[in-house]
Amino acid sequence: MTASTSWLGLPPDTGFGPANLPYGIFSTSGSGPRTGVGIGDHVLDLAAATGDPLHATGTLNAFMATGPAAWAALRTRLTEWFSDPVHRRTVEPNLVPRDQVTMHLPIEVADYVDFYSSQHHAENLGRMFRPDSAALTPNWKHLPIGYHGRAGTVAVSGTPVVRPCGQRKDPTEDAPTFGPSQRLDIEAEVGFVVGVGSDLGAAVPLRRFPDHVFGVCLVNDWSSRDLQAWEYVPLGPFLGKSFLTSIAPWVVPLAALGAARVAPPPRDPQPLRYLRDDDDPWGLDIALEVRLNGELLSSPPFREMYWTPAQQLAHLTVNGASLRTGDLYASGTVSGPGTHERGSFIELSWGGAEPITLADGTTRTFLDDGDVVVITATAPGPDGSRLSFGEVTGRVEPAR
Ligand code: CA
Repeated sequence: MTASTSWLGLPPDTGFGPANLPYGIFSTSGSGPRTGVGIGDHVLDLAAATGDPLHATGTLNAFMATGPAAWAALRTRLTEWFSDPVHRRTVEPNLVPRDQVTMHLPIEVADYVDFYSSQHHAENLGRMFRPDSAALTPNWKHLPIGYHGRAGTVAVSGTPVVRPCGQRKDPTEDAPTFGPSQRLDIEAEVGFVVGVGSDLGAAVPLRRFPDHVFGVCLVNDWSSRDLQAWEYVPLGPFLGKSFLTSIAPWVVPLAALGAARVAPPPRDPQPLRYLRDDDDPWGLDIALEVRLNGELLSSPPFREMYWTPAQQLAHLTVNGASLRTGDLYASGTVSGPGTHERGSFIELSWGGAEPITLADGTTRTFLDDGDVVVITATAPGPDGSRLSFGEVTGRVEPAR
């Protein structure tokens, strides 16, 4: 199935063809939030088209909780609707132009976890923060490092990014000061949304990844490097991360990503058995792009990630921690080996030492008030097509 085989007559480069079918929550003027499916330049009103109250709840959680068999059944139905013109009468009256809808947070976020799974990113930050030690910590190649974040401040793309205030202390200063962050940064990441929970005390093995994870969304993990640098020892990220995490409004189903699966980079040394994925690895060839005020700054390659989302899920439950519908875990900053493949400003400007010169002649080390960051991504679909993940965007507003 390609975009061009739909009776909708979509252009081949739509990114939102019938091989994608991302889910989101939308509203129109005068009607409440409900589930929609992105198709071309439209949203299919799933609540109206199916008449199923499951799709009128205002989040994807109720549908996600129904599990992989129900996900597959609806996907099959949607594929039929968009490919066979006999369904035109069902579908067409329920298509709403995308430029006429407001998109909302697609999921009610249960728990939020953020990993640190790009070797290139971890080595870059290690060199900057710990120049006298090995770039990678001794545990890094044995387990996907992560921390539990703040679920309540995950917001939909477009939510204003208010510059956070907090304690900063430059190494040259004797004592900390309080004020607006002066090193406000992004982290271009890919997020994984849990549909089906698990029992407390029971680990979720690698092979059960597609039984629990519903889909994938873009993430911008806004980060304050000055707050972070002062607070993070010894317990890890706290207020430097928790002020806002933005996600794209579209959740691309895992089922759409068959053509995007790739082998991850070779692991050396081999991890412990519960993280061994040689027979069924979940590397994904997702190509990200980071734009500042419209200018392309970076193209981070997700296929370079050392740890896969299946390994991350296996690790975060291996102690018996249970999953809940709506759990979100992010990959960690996606950075590749190239200088234009880095997913954060701290890497792009090398800790502020190498300012980035923009097309308008201005320079940046970190974000200025008024800056707009847009992260987009695509992945291979069937027959040479590309699937779009939409975008996650945010505009920096002055500290309050
Ligand atoms: Ca992060």
